[in-house]
Amino acid sequence: MNYYSLNNPSARVSFKEATIKGQAPDKGLYFPEKIPALPADLIPNIASLSHEEIAIRVIRPYTGDTIPEKELEKIISETIAFPFPLVPVTDSISSLELFHGPTLAFKDVGARFMSRCLGYFVKDQSQPVTVLVATSGDTGGAVASGFYDVPGINVVILYPSGKVSSVQELQLTTLGRNISALEVSGTFDDCQRMVKTAFADPDLNRALFLTSANSINVARWLPQQFYYFFAWRQWADKDHPPVICVPSGNFGNICAGLLAHRSGLPARHFIAACNANDIVPSYLQTGTYAPKPAVPTLSNAMDVGDPSNFVRILEIFHHEFASLKKVITSYSITDEETRSTIRDVYRKYHYLPDPHGAVGFLALERFLSEHPGEKGIFLETAHPVKFYDAVEEETGEKVPLPGTVKDLLGREKNNTKITTDFGQLKEFLLTLKVK
Ligand SMILES: *Cc1c(COP(=O)(O)O)cnc(C)c1O
Repeated sequence: MNYYSLNNPSARVSFKEATIKGQAPDKGLYFPEKIPALPADLIPNIASLSHEEIAIRVIRPYTGDTIPEKELEKIISETIAFPFPLVPVTDSISSLELFHGPTLAFKDVGARFMSRCLGYFVKDQSQPVTVLVATSGDTGGAVASGFYDVPGINVVILYPSGKVSSVQELQLTTLGRNISALEVSGTFDDCQRMVKTAFADPDLNRALFLTSANSINVARWLPQQFYYFFAWRQWADKDHPPVICVPSGNFGNICAGLLAHRSGLPARHFIAACNANDIVPSYLQTGTYAPKPAVPTLSNAMDVGDPSNFVRILEIFHHEFASLKKVITSYSITDEETRSTIRDVYRKYHYLPDPHGAVGFLALERFLSEHPGEKGIFLETAHPVKFYDAVEEETGEKVPLPGTVKDLLGREKNNTKITTDFGQLKEFLLTLKVK
């Protein structure tokens, strides 16, 4: 399987090259040259297959001959070494919990898969690879944990000082070894700008083998398809496929679901649940795609004003607005509604959603009330403890700490403080090389 740039369909690269590069030189996103049909026995026999067997069958056509079978099996088993339970919340709504990985958000699967693929691809290279990434919170922790101790790879994470939650900061700063955390006295946009400047800097590119671990990388995007198959495996009523609701920001996760659906995964309908950043809900209403600056909300991992993966969704639907509208509905949920949903779901159903999951729950509930008789799943993308201040304010109760977080709280933060001056980042990276 090769991949083409969405900016130039004739420029084709292998899975290996797409993973190492992240983005095509023409700045286009990579897209598989054909969407494979699922192996014929996968859906009928899904209940008898293990998660590993499902994941291998789903991903194998995408990695092709770039990773040998044994190595791919090892990568898969390390990538999905935790549960993905489907938990009933109401008579018609279930929660697919994607927060049982090491950093308590769904990004663990993509980050772990990518880190291991990249580690495999560069293992014979004499020069270490430096992964440089800016984070507003969840990405950094997943990338740090995913790449921890992967030989031949150094990771440098930039995060905005005072703007990530305390749990998120500890996840970034307490690993050490090949992971460095830079606390930048600026905003997420400053961090992102500095990372972009570094990728364009000739001195750094001479001295280092730089790459990114950003969410548009095919090795982060494609394994997210697994969630949808794990959900279907647990779905009881196989004659009536679920409506699937995905809390969306950059639209990578839902795009993976739509890809799985195109390959043959049963689903009744998809819902893109958004917060006040309503670019896609407006697009589906008006037909006009109008990016705008992101506004901050409670569900901050979805504060995106120009979702980078949306163009991949358009590609799946061959840019046909009418066919896209048949499969996807999108809602914009306010912070006020998010808060009351956390409260109501906890009180009525004794289930505690995080703010992102709450956006998903309400969007799904809204769709089901307009389509009686249907049932659905929302993706619970983060553990509520990651956003405990917001959640505790609504329930008035402490969120119980999972073991991984208790363990984190006792550890010492280890980071380097820098300003938004690019010279400081450059100096840090150049000295990292001689270490
Ligand atoms: C990243 C993230 C999202 C948004 O996922 P996209 O693939 O960017 O749409 C939703 N919820 C949580 C908790 C996240 O970390």
